[in-house]
Amino acid sequence: MGNIIDEMMAAEPFRIKMVEPIKTTTKEERQRKIKEAGYNVFNLESKDVYIDLLTDSGTSAMSDNQWAGMMLGDEAYAGSKNFYNLKDAIKEVMGYDYFLPTHQGRAAENVLFQLYVEEGNYVPNNMHFDTTKAHVQDKRGRPVNLVIDEAYDAKKNVPFKGNMDIDKLDNFLKEHSDNVPIVLLTVTCNSGGGQPVSMENIKEVSEICKKYNKPFYLDACRFAENAYFIKLREPGYADKSIPEITREMFSYADGCTMSSKKDALVNIGGFLAMEDEKLLDKAKVLGVLYEGFPTYGGMAGRDMEAMARGLLEVVEEEYLQYRINQVNYLGEKLKEKKVPILEPVGGHAVYLDAGRFLPNIPKDQFPGQALTVALYEEGGIRGVEIGTVLSGRDPETGDHDYPELELVRLTIPRRVYTYRHMDVVAEAAKIIHDKRDEIGGYKFTYEPEILRHFTARFAPVK
Ligand SMILES: *Cc1c(COP(=O)(O)O)cnc(C)c1O
Repeated sequence: MGNIIDEMMAAEPFRIKMVEPIKTTTKEERQRKIKEAGYNVFNLESKDVYIDLLTDSGTSAMSDNQWAGMMLGDEAYAGSKNFYNLKDAIKEVMGYDYFLPTHQGRAAENVLFQLYVEEGNYVPNNMHFDTTKAHVQDKRGRPVNLVIDEAYDAKKNVPFKGNMDIDKLDNFLKEHSDNVPIVLLTVTCNSGGGQPVSMENIKEVSEICKKYNKPFYLDACRFAENAYFIKLREPGYADKSIPEITREMFSYADGCTMSSKKDALVNIGGFLAMEDEKLLDKAKVLGVLYEGFPTYGGMAGRDMEAMARGLLEVVEEEYLQYRINQVNYLGEKLKEKKVPILEPVGGHAVYLDAGRFLPNIPKDQFPGQALTVALYEEGGIRGVEIGTVLSGRDPETGDHDYPELELVRLTIPRRVYTYRHMDVVAEAAKIIHDKRDEIGGYKFTYEPEILRHFTARFAPVK
């Protein structure tokens, strides 16, 4: 018997000194609200949501130390001291000397791809996140996903399901090298289910990029969660500290894009970090145009301070153990109740496998959307479709760009909900699963051209 606070079921490594009340609603109220929202949970008012698992992006609870830092904002236009604190934190955790602050992650992508991507270029990644894909396409480039095949098998339990397929990457570069300006690797692999990438894989991708002389960037939004999985699962890392692991991860790449709304434990912000000072000079030109002066880049000084402190907190092992355990707990509860999920459970979310959950609904009637609506109606729980609706249309054929999997993501905000909230979510999913034959599909009543999932409206197919 170990120490009780070391066990799997360790409670939260914090106590709560401020609370935010959340409202319960009746099922009839929720049915009315979701109908008014065009059956799109992005159109709901958050006050009408009981447990909000839409995203882990910008939804973290900050610590007392971060809030204290907010009071130390230096709002100087140029040379804010918080910029330098953030610079030190990035150096400490990632090892990079140079960075451009941006208002969030996609803004860093915008700058990076403007520097590298031209019309017709291919940009390989394990799997592009939706904003990453959209920003490559915005520069008339072509995003390419080269993740290992196992990533598409919802039932296959492999430790590093986010890995790049090294042979696919090598072959792709062999064939298209002239037309590939940059290679990315997303850690953890969000679109693949928050699945981690091994250190060995990061190193191998780096070696291939060196062989073909390509810059290599990490999409680092969940770098700390990835590092914790490396510590747990990869031989040789059990005794290394998380900062040692994160610095090694970043040492293989030329830089990274970062959404601080994820693993920097803040509500807004991002950056583009790199090893090369000359590249920073070029990035600064675009930064001034799109973000702001290079020592604030679209953020207030106080936001940079909270981010600097968050970056140091997110690599604390006790925090990461709690974080990964809580997400895993929800996955285990769902499995106990025979609800089909993507396995293994990733770092920031549990993914319901809507394809297996609602096999009667054809793909063009959006099973993931149907399950998302049902979860809200049943339990006031807001998840999000990660399937055909999110994937959009193929720009060449105009057809739905059907993804391999139809999923609903239940994303757990950091340090926000308790284990009891997870029990409620699992129970609601079970109730829906028991009456799955009664659930029908949806069709568009309004479909915007890009990033359609955010503002689309739907109606039930009858
Ligand atoms: C969230 C996210 C982004 C974009 O960051 P924003 O801060 O939302 O603009 C890019 N890549 C991945 C993997 C993400 O999860």
